[in-house]
Amino acid sequence: MVYTGVLTKMQTEFLEPIQYYLVFENDFIHMNQLLNKTINIKLVGHQCLSCGLDKPIYRQGFCRSCFFDKPVAGDWIMRPELSTAHLGKEDRDLEYEQKVQLQPHIVYLANSSNVKVGVTRKSQVPTRWIDQGAHEAVEIVEVPNRYLAGITEVALKDHVADKTNWRNMLKNDVKDEDLLEWRHNLKGYIPEEAQPYFIENNTETHLVFPVEQYPVKPKSLNLNKTPNYTGKLVGIKGQYLIFEDNTVFNVRANEGLVVEISM
Ligand SMILES: [Zn+2]
Repeated sequence: MVYTGVLTKMQTEFLEPIQYYLVFENDFIHMNQLLNKTINIKLVGHQCLSCGLDKPIYRQGFCRSCFFDKPVAGDWIMRPELSTAHLGKEDRDLEYEQKVQLQPHIVYLANSSNVKVGVTRKSQVPTRWIDQGAHEAVEIVEVPNRYLAGITEVALKDHVADKTNWRNMLKNDVKDEDLLEWRHNLKGYIPEEAQPYFIENNTETHLVFPVEQYPVKPKSLNLNKTPNYTGKLVGIKGQYLIFEDNTVFNVRANEGLVVEISM
């Protein structure tokens, strides 16, 4: 079987274990069914997720000009505290920014290699945690817009990490943490504007990934350098495919690449 399409991050289903789907225009692959099978990934081109042109991918699946021009790639995406739609102030396209920013957002703690704070739209829970490869997570506040989530994250960053180590996440070099205790200890650092939105009663969410064998020394597959790779799939965690020979492939970081996948 050969499937051809442009890579976008895998769709997921929150089951035990997590179910992963690689979705192409006319086809999809249920990745869990490929575990323990040898697959081939071949780079055949590029397709910007915004303009659709075969141009080099710059960031987040976009070509350089789309990344700097299109509303879907504004700075407030990566830095929620820069959101201004709640003030009626436009960055690149106010209508789009109001639609995305003026909706319930969650500030959460997730543990994928260490405890970190993060922001996501409420509709993206638990998808966001799955994408990060977190094995446990808990919400801290639910606020009505992205700006409030952003300033909360910035304030909490002084007391908890906001980055994770992808190698440790993949090696499963993790320890369980009491996220409720972390939440309790961080509560006092939430900015005043967001304090009323603290979620009083909450429990941890636990996530189980389909991994048969964790890599000992993960090495990242770069299709632009190695355009043709064959390996036996032994696990999926976060947005990574894990192969028996320690190769790992971050599907999300390769959005916009057109590939041929065969098995
Ligand atoms: Zn483009």
